[in-house]
Amino acid sequence: MVGTCFGTQAINAQVPLVSPLRDNDLQAQLPSSGQQLQLRNVQVNADGFVLQINGSPQMRTSRVANPDRIILDLQATEVSPYIHNSVVPINRYGVRQIRVAQFQKYPAITRLVFDLDSTSPVNWQSSYDQTRGLLLLRPVGLSVTEKNTSSLPVTSSSGSNNSLPTTINGLSFNGYGQLVIDASRAITYRSSLDLANNTYSLTIPATRISSQLRRPVLGANSPIEQIRLTQVGDAVVVSVKMISGWQISESVRTNPQAIALQLTSVGQVNAGIPPNTRSQVQPNYGNVTSGRQLVVIDPGHGGPDVGATRNGVYEKDIVLAMSKQLGRILQQMGYSVMYTRTEDIDLDLEPRVQMAENARASAFVSVHVNSLDASSSQVNGVETYHAPSASLGKNLAELVHQQIIASTGANDRGVRSARFYVITKTSMPAILVETGFITNPSEASRLVDSNYQGRMAVAIAQGIDQFLKSYRR
Ligand code: ZN
Repeated sequence: MVGTCFGTQAINAQVPLVSPLRDNDLQAQLPSSGQQLQLRNVQVNADGFVLQINGSPQMRTSRVANPDRIILDLQATEVSPYIHNSVVPINRYGVRQIRVAQFQKYPAITRLVFDLDSTSPVNWQSSYDQTRGLLLLRPVGLSVTEKNTSSLPVTSSSGSNNSLPTTINGLSFNGYGQLVIDASRAITYRSSLDLANNTYSLTIPATRISSQLRRPVLGANSPIEQIRLTQVGDAVVVSVKMISGWQISESVRTNPQAIALQLTSVGQVNAGIPPNTRSQVQPNYGNVTSGRQLVVIDPGHGGPDVGATRNGVYEKDIVLAMSKQLGRILQQMGYSVMYTRTEDIDLDLEPRVQMAENARASAFVSVHVNSLDASSSQVNGVETYHAPSASLGKNLAELVHQQIIASTGANDRGVRSARFYVITKTSMPAILVETGFITNPSEASRLVDSNYQGRMAVAIAQGIDQFLKSYRR
């Protein structure tokens, strides 16, 4: 047990509105050598905030105004993929909700943002329970306030001791190609699929729709056509209509207050199944259940990470458009396709790899656009990368590269090896294609052209097809 008071200075209304991050002298208790700390869950209970973590991390805190929030950075800590980019509803101790994300990858920093309800100063005491692997943040000096708020909605994993209904608080994309439904307490649900309308419905009993429901913004190219929430008596019905070629499958539940739905591009996998004969959506494991080989397509960057950019054009947008064309072509060729992202969202490298690993993909292709500084604007062309000493990856890279050069006429900058994370950490044959230089004016104008993107996509697909046909057993 380590008992240390932190935040007395930093987490206080008296401090400047934006205070610099500062160390709090907590000694990090690292787990067995070489292992990194991992934050696995964030909950609230009668004692305070409970962080499930395999060691006591160094913490830095700061308080920021407009809106009023406290930022808590856990040093040398990874966040579990299951709670990355998640929002934990709290409504207690002056905290409305906690947002959890991997703030930085190298070195790893997990960031918790406590969105505050009130301007009252919040001080916490932290203690680490080594036996149970729990870090407790206990509010101090709040006994009066806490009594007064005890009749307000209280969220806790065991909180069945009040009569307020459970609310559906929001839907959001979590950066794993999943649509996540968040509730204020543990929920159960039934699901059904209307194949004729490609609409997946969830019925969540004993809930109501929050008046402050959060909804995702659906991009123009979103695989989701419409999301509808309806109060049907005592239950909330969530209906998600997908565009054709896409399917929803349920992910393993790790959080009783949330339901994660995986969006998957499935080609013609449902062909031949008469409508309405399946009441339950079957999880799609790509090549496993459909007998089709699965290709994971990874459009680089996304969200605030725009990638290479010039003249207001972003790599993230070019590669997403190109990737979707690539996916459609691969589907027409008979492959199952999974994208690491289908929206303009922030996504770490690790979950991109994890998706491909979990799905046991047959091949992985990451799509990027290159750049150099202005003095090198004459440089143009395509580079295709594989991981060092990955012979299958090299083979895949060569086949794809040949196709690209032959069909686009782009300058041949060669097949290369490099230690890019997404191709070195994937266990299946994996390549990264730099499809051209955004810093070269004439190549940039081709890269934003959907016809050229289509030619690039066809070429990549043909290379992948050649490769997978030659290795199919
Ligand atoms: Zn890139």
